[in-house]
Amino acid sequence: MRLLMAGSPGSGKGTHGRRLGAHLGVPHIATGDLLRDQVSLGSEIGREAQAYMDRGDYVPDTVMIEMIRLRLAQPDAQNGFVLDGFPRTQGQADELDKLLADLGQSIDAMIVLEVPVEEMVRRLSGRRTCPTCQRAYHMDDNPPADDERCDDDGSPLERRSDDEPETVRYRLKVYGERTAGVIEHYDVDNVVRRVSGEASVDEVAARVRDALGV
Ligand code: AMP
Repeated sequence: MRLLMAGSPGSGKGTHGRRLGAHLGVPHIATGDLLRDQVSLGSEIGREAQAYMDRGDYVPDTVMIEMIRLRLAQPDAQNGFVLDGFPRTQGQADELDKLLADLGQSIDAMIVLEVPVEEMVRRLSGRRTCPTCQRAYHMDDNPPADDERCDDDGSPLERRSDDEPETVRYRLKVYGERTAGVIEHYDVDNVVRRVSGEASVDEVAARVRDALGV
């Protein structure tokens, strides 16, 4: 299956995209993760992307499209994928359509996770990650045992720089202005499946699988 995972920041698309990829045995390809990897490596793409990401702005389409073109050409993506956080603009959607058409492929479904704005702000503001093992926490919903340290390796937990409350509100605004319309693009092909993301992780995961019939 070739799936798109959409939803605004904090809707849970990363968590559910990862689960769905594991369930279907296809790679979970998250453009935010690909970019953060490039930033950690200090590559040219990473250096270019970092300023946009820190502000909560979108990285230019040309960079994103090239990154996805290379990633979808990898052997593990030939039998399907869960693409998370892409396309986020009309230009990216048009380029993805062309790329897949050239390969004789198409999108089977787009999952849109819907969560109220205040809940998204709450989720993102409390989110922390271990920089050593990447384990994810939430300070209210899933806190570490010892204050702000990782349960597994004791590293001090970090907050993503773009999860500061002010940047979160800006990211939600950018999403509304630039990405909400992309969902309409896929609605025309009748592949959009809207799922309420306001429940426990297991409950939402079950809803996502039901929506896809997998
Ligand atoms: P995410 O982890 O999906 O919240 O993405 C983190 C940040 O990476 C976003 O706020 C953007 O700055 C950038 N980003 C991720 N995916 C895209 C995309 N498809 N187009 C432009 N920027 C992106």
